[in-house]
Amino acid sequence: MKRKIGFILATLALAAGLFLLFGRNWIAQRAFDRAIDHTVGVDQSAALADGLHAYVCGSGSPMPDAQRAGPCIAVLAGKQAFVFDAGSGSIRKLGRMGFPMDRLQAAFLTHLHSDHIDGLGELLLQAWIGGSRSTPLPVYGPDGTDRVIAAEAQLYAIDEGFRVTHHGPKVARPSGFGGEARIVTLPDNAGSRVVYDVDGVKVTAIRVNHAPVSPAFGYRIDYKGRAIAISGDTIYAPGFVAAAKGADLVFHDALNKRMVAALQAKLAERGRGDAAQIMHDIQGYHASPEDAARAAREAGAGALVLYHLVPAPPAKLIEPLFLGDAPKEFPGTLKLAQDGMIVSLPAGGKAIQFRSAW
Ligand SMILES: [Zn+2]
Ligand SMILES: [Zn+2]
Repeated sequence: MKRKIGFILATLALAAGLFLLFGRNWIAQRAFDRAIDHTVGVDQSAALADGLHAYVCGSGSPMPDAQRAGPCIAVLAGKQAFVFDAGSGSIRKLGRMGFPMDRLQAAFLTHLHSDHIDGLGELLLQAWIGGSRSTPLPVYGPDGTDRVIAAEAQLYAIDEGFRVTHHGPKVARPSGFGGEARIVTLPDNAGSRVVYDVDGVKVTAIRVNHAPVSPAFGYRIDYKGRAIAISGDTIYAPGFVAAAKGADLVFHDALNKRMVAALQAKLAERGRGDAAQIMHDIQGYHASPEDAARAAREAGAGALVLYHLVPAPPAKLIEPLFLGDAPKEFPGTLKLAQDGMIVSLPAGGKAIQFRSAW
């Protein structure tokens, strides 16, 4: 009996020793294999219902933020994918969200402020290599978009050479490098115009008011009876309300003037005059949360998501302070955008579903 117990104990000790030596690596390897089996090369959008799906790739503003990339909303409409603005860091978030870059049809720029285009180089690169493109990515935007696209091509010309040489022209197709600018113009008497209409997906450019930046656009995406409107940067704009009429979901920029004024006062008090001046100036060309709520209510939207948050509340506790009276102004679902948020509008109904990619 004693010998038997001794044998069992020795076996257990040997097993524990072997586990300590090799077990952790075995478990780590299994976990790694499982993770790549579930994610790598898998089209994570394949299981989504037919309809519109909005991916919040960037909910932030030019203010530095550990959680929020610069402004970016991507939309999947049936089998077609689109990106609206590409703020700093947003395209990596988009990749992390499982967005199908190989279905990207076009990008749309609301205006040419740096915070809306400082991730554009990354978008063009990901569309080219990640999306296996053989033609440049169409990029719709205001006058000047052609200069930006030409500058991006120059900026990445050396990288293009490296990649074509390294991977070969069958993988890194030189013909798919970069973007192709498509300048959006609206006649003086028009507040909006359809700029993309392919296989049941319509994108409408909308004139908004971000003076002195002009022109600045919002966009509306329609597909199978569902619609999303994106304001870009604007104050309350009646033209945006008109063009967003009946949209299921509105994304609107929001700046809390009381909070920005407090930042301005503190900067002035500490002798940071230039920064205080900037805090003063930006209050005049963004909507307040209440303005955005009013616009969404008048448009009859089902849900309003505030993005381009200035300043972005650093904690849940501060969100009510940021929102102010916006919840009273808008009767529908009202949320602050978070990076990773996915909003689904399945075709053939009125459902609006929110979830997080992480
Ligand atoms: Zn702007
Ligand atoms: Zn902006």
